[in-house]
Amino acid sequence: MIRERLADCVHCGFCLPSCPTYVLWQEEMDSPRGRIQLMEKTLDGTVTLSPSVVTHFDRCLGCMACLSSCPSGVHYDELIEATRATIEESVARPRGERLQRGVIFATLPHPRRMAVALRLARIGRALPTPGWLRPLLEAAPPWRPREQAPAELPAVGTARGRVAMLTGCAQRVLFGDVNAATARVLAATGHDVVAPRQGCCGALSAHAGRAAEAHRFTERLRSALAGVDTIVVNAAGCGSHLKEHGLPAIDVTEALDDAPLPELHALELRVAYQDSCHLRHAQRLPAAWRPVLERIPGLEIVEPAEQDVCCGSAGIYNVTQPAAARALGDRKAAHVLATGADALVSANPGCLVQVAQALGRARHPLPTLHPVELLDAAIRGVDARALVADARR
Ligand code: SF4
Ligand code: SF4
Repeated sequence: MIRERLADCVHCGFCLPSCPTYVLWQEEMDSPRGRIQLMEKTLDGTVTLSPSVVTHFDRCLGCMACLSSCPSGVHYDELIEATRATIEESVARPRGERLQRGVIFATLPHPRRMAVALRLARIGRALPTPGWLRPLLEAAPPWRPREQAPAELPAVGTARGRVAMLTGCAQRVLFGDVNAATARVLAATGHDVVAPRQGCCGALSAHAGRAAEAHRFTERLRSALAGVDTIVVNAAGCGSHLKEHGLPAIDVTEALDDAPLPELHALELRVAYQDSCHLRHAQRLPAAWRPVLERIPGLEIVEPAEQDVCCGSAGIYNVTQPAAARALGDRKAAHVLATGADALVSANPGCLVQVAQALGRARHPLPTLHPVELLDAAIRGVDARALVADARR
């Protein structure tokens, strides 16, 4: 199967300009084509999984921009996930990397532990810490208690159907208010909403090659949400993982596709809309939130340059590859600032955290919002100034 998938690549190189790591370093082995050649050679046994070869695979963000730009339909997503699983099974990583990954996966997928870790991170940053722990402490966003989605919310007016919400792991801790806004928007558009008790969906583990752990998380979620016909997801990376694994998941934008919107109040704001890679490339929803946001009176949407290029967040990438993540984040922040927008809008929690930190480094912090928060505010008639004043930065 993997050999067949590898053979789909005709080595044309059309994917190179859209690959963020190739854009950064112009290095063939850090491009999709180069990585596919390395996969072929490791499978043939002509190249071993040496530290430098593993580094080329580790540097891949899994942003899937190469899926959109490949004319031959190469399934790079399946190839990199299988390669990462092989690396995790067969390569002994250096001690610092093992400890770092151990801490990441002992905290991030577990909301209670993550909330504690985020509070401790502030103290940790002021203390002398080992080099492997530093990127984790620096990537940790500020934490404050957030509103959470209710367990049930009935449709406003006549119900069109019943949907379950994925509340997520990191999403629930850092973006509980986005979940709450999503529930209100779904209810306002005629959905009976349920948000049953649930855990991590497994996306973070799967994208890091931890196949068995990812499988456990995904199957637990499948059981927790058994009996629902539709799972609405507001975090693009989680949505693509659930779709790939056969759960009945749809993005919020798909739930809104044929739903009549209630009257929308004006939001006088100029926002920079940054695509989420997993919505644009992995879920193949290139229009994403634009058609919905364009219906909000007073809202001006501007597009930063290099929409196709990942911001460098990419799951745990900003911790495991901090230099590359920082370079991509700073590049994205410069493009966002060049638009002159009042706020940054993106449909993935990781992207919001990553670009907010880069804007902070540029000494120009901007309010950052999930697009569902804009729609929720327009439905409820929240004043634009109040919305941005309360937004995370
Ligand atoms: S992955 Fe696709 S675009 Fe890239 S070299 Fe192979 S065939 Fe060409
Ligand atoms: S997933 Fe992104 S970083 Fe990885 S090879 Fe494809 S375009 Fe490059």
